Amino acid sequence: MEEQLNLAPCGYLVMNQSFHVLEMNQTLRDMLDVEDSPVHLHDILTTPSRIYFQTYFAPSITVHGNVNELYLTLKGKEHQIPVLMNAVKQEERYACVMVQMKVRDEYENELLLARRRAERILHETDHANKKLQALLKEVEEKQQELLDLNKDLQELALTDPLTGLKNRRYLQDKIMELIELAKSSENEMFSLLLIDVDHFKEVNDTHGHPMGDAVLRELSWKLLRETRDHDIVARVGGEEFMILLPNRNEESARVIAERIRLNVDHGPWAQKRVTVSIGVTSYKFGDTPSSLYAQADQALYLSKNAGRNRVSVS
Ligand code: GH3
Ligand code: MG
Ligand code: MG
Repeated sequence: MEEQLNLAPCGYLVMNQSFHVLEMNQTLRDMLDVEDSPVHLHDILTTPSRIYFQTYFAPSITVHGNVNELYLTLKGKEHQIPVLMNAVKQEERYACVMVQMKVRDEYENELLLARRRAERILHETDHANKKLQALLKEVEEKQQELLDLNKDLQELALTDPLTGLKNRRYLQDKIMELIELAKSSENEMFSLLLIDVDHFKEVNDTHGHPMGDAVLRELSWKLLRETRDHDIVARVGGEEFMILLPNRNEESARVIAERIRLNVDHGPWAQKRVTVSIGVTSYKFGDTPSSLYAQADQALYLSKNAGRNRVSVS
C-alpha cells in the first residue's frame, strides 16, 4: 500500500465480495487498536451495525456501484467507534473509506442531553407554576374568607345580641354623621325618638326574666315595622330604644312617635300588654350627641311624669 494512503487521515480498507478484508491501512488499524488486519469486515462491526450493513450495503453497491455515508459503529478494543463509510466497487473488490465520527457523535449526544435537560426544566417550571397558581388561589380564597369574617365581626360588634337591632356604638357613629350632614347644609335635618318601656320591671317580676327578653324582642320587631329602611332603630340600654329619623322635623317625628305609641299600646302582644313612653327632639344648630340625648331624655321624663304611655317633645 502506498505510504500516503497507509497514513491518510481516514481509515481505508479493501474487501472482496464476501466482505473478507484484503487490505487495511495503518490509520484504521490504529483506530481499532489492532496490530494485524482482521479477517472479515463482520469482525470489526457491532451486532446492530452488522445487521444494518447487511441490509443496505450489498443492494446499494450492486445497483449503484457505490455506497455513500453509511453510518456504522466499529468495535474498538476499549470502546465503540462511530464512523461514516463511503465505498466504491472496483472490479471484484470494494474499496472503503471510514471517517471517524467521534466528535460529531459526542456533540450530538451533548445536544440530545441538553435538549432533555431543557425539557425537564420546562416540565419542572410548568409544574412549579401550576403549584404556585394553586397556592395563589388558596391565598385569595383565604383572604376573602378573612374579609367575610371581618365583616361579620364588624357587624357583630355593632349589633345588639338580644334583639338584633343596632347597638349604642353604631348609633353614636350615625348621630355624628347626621350632625355633620346637618352642619353642611340647612336643608339637612333629623330628629330622634327615645323610647322606654313602661313598668318593665313588673314584667320581669311577674312573668320572669325570659318573658321580659321575649317582650323586648317583640317590641324590636314592632319598631322596625313602624320605620323606614333608612331610619335607624337601636337598643341603647336595658328596655330603652332610640330611633334616628333622617329628614324629619320635630312635628313629623312627633306624629311617628304617636303612631308607634298607639301601635304598641294596641298590640297585639303574645305575652302581655305593653306600653311605651317616648321623648322627641330634633337637631338644632350647635347640638352634640350628648345634648341631643339629654333633650330626648328630658322629653321622655315629661312623658313618664305625666302618667306614661305618651309622647312629649323637648
Ligand atoms: P319605668 O316605667 O319608670 O321605666 O319603669 P321600669 O320598671 O320600666 O324601669 P326601671 O328602670 O325601674 O326598670 C327597668 C328594668 O328593666 C330593670 C331591669 O331588670 C330590666 N331589664 C334591663 N335589661 C333587661 C334585659 O335585657 N332583659 C330583661 N328581661 N330585663 C331587663
Ligand atoms: Mg322603663
Ligand atoms: Mg329605663
